[in-house]
Amino acid sequence: MNQLIPIEFPNNISVYIKREDLIHPFVSGNKFRKLKYNLLQAKEENESSMLTFGGAFSNHIAAVAFAGREQHFKTIGVIRGEELVDKVKDNPTLKFAQECGMQFEFVSREMYRHKQEETFLSHLKEKYGSFYLIPEGGTNALAIQGCEEILTDKDAEFDFVCCAVGTGGTIAGIINSILPHQKVLGFPALKGDFLKDEICTFVNNKNWELIQEYHLGGYGKVNQELVAFINHFYKETKIPLDPIYTGKMVFGILDLIQKNYFSANSKILLIHTGGLQGIEGMNEKLKNKKLATIKIHD
Ligand SMILES: *Cc1c(COP(=O)(O)O)cnc(C)c1O
Repeated sequence: MNQLIPIEFPNNISVYIKREDLIHPFVSGNKFRKLKYNLLQAKEENESSMLTFGGAFSNHIAAVAFAGREQHFKTIGVIRGEELVDKVKDNPTLKFAQECGMQFEFVSREMYRHKQEETFLSHLKEKYGSFYLIPEGGTNALAIQGCEEILTDKDAEFDFVCCAVGTGGTIAGIINSILPHQKVLGFPALKGDFLKDEICTFVNNKNWELIQEYHLGGYGKVNQELVAFINHFYKETKIPLDPIYTGKMVFGILDLIQKNYFSANSKILLIHTGGLQGIEGMNEKLKNKKLATIKIHD
């Protein structure tokens, strides 16, 4: 569903948001899309388990756990951070995943860096048996195929399509499905120049750009300006944003509009990729630091 953002913008610019967050209250919209063809492939390969990787607040971990329960797969989550072993019940993401039946393998940050290596994977196979492997963040060719279904024929009216970028799978699918008159703007949620090359390996056109100015210092980094922005945006529009991805993207777009980045009469479509399950965990961190929290409920 595309929703007009009820804010007056200069130069007759209009901004719509595609509410992929409404696909499910706890599981990110884009993570569902990324799993769709992977679930079919896992069945095709007769695997009864799926194994994947993620951090303590990972939207992807929550999505795999939930999809696994729905579709009758055992799920194993390799989680970064050994210290989390006895903190599952205090962590909303891990608690949800566990309630969905996910088993956890907690590993040190050092070990986590080697997660894709054969010795580590064969250790996991010995321990858990055979599984369908989904990479961190869920990005692979099948995930991109799923994200090619985000845009529909009705979205042809837009000049720009904007989304948050983590591993680059979602934007790659969007880039592959735009029309020649459209351009995609990606807002990385993390620092690093590697993303551009990564995305290039998956896409078939050049009508896209990464805007690197709005990651606020890196993945999961937030500041009080962003928190205030998300709260203000919710008050004005009733649209909830998450602090890791969509909040930074929308903050960036509104800033670019103010800076006259877009020509008059531009029609802009933002993709709300979800991520709202992460707010609870982020608010706990903010509370511990005695900082203002995110308020997206009336
Ligand atoms: C994972 C995620 C993204 C980034 O998707 P990638 O395909 O990894 O680039 C964006 N928004 C939300 C809410 C996410 O959970």
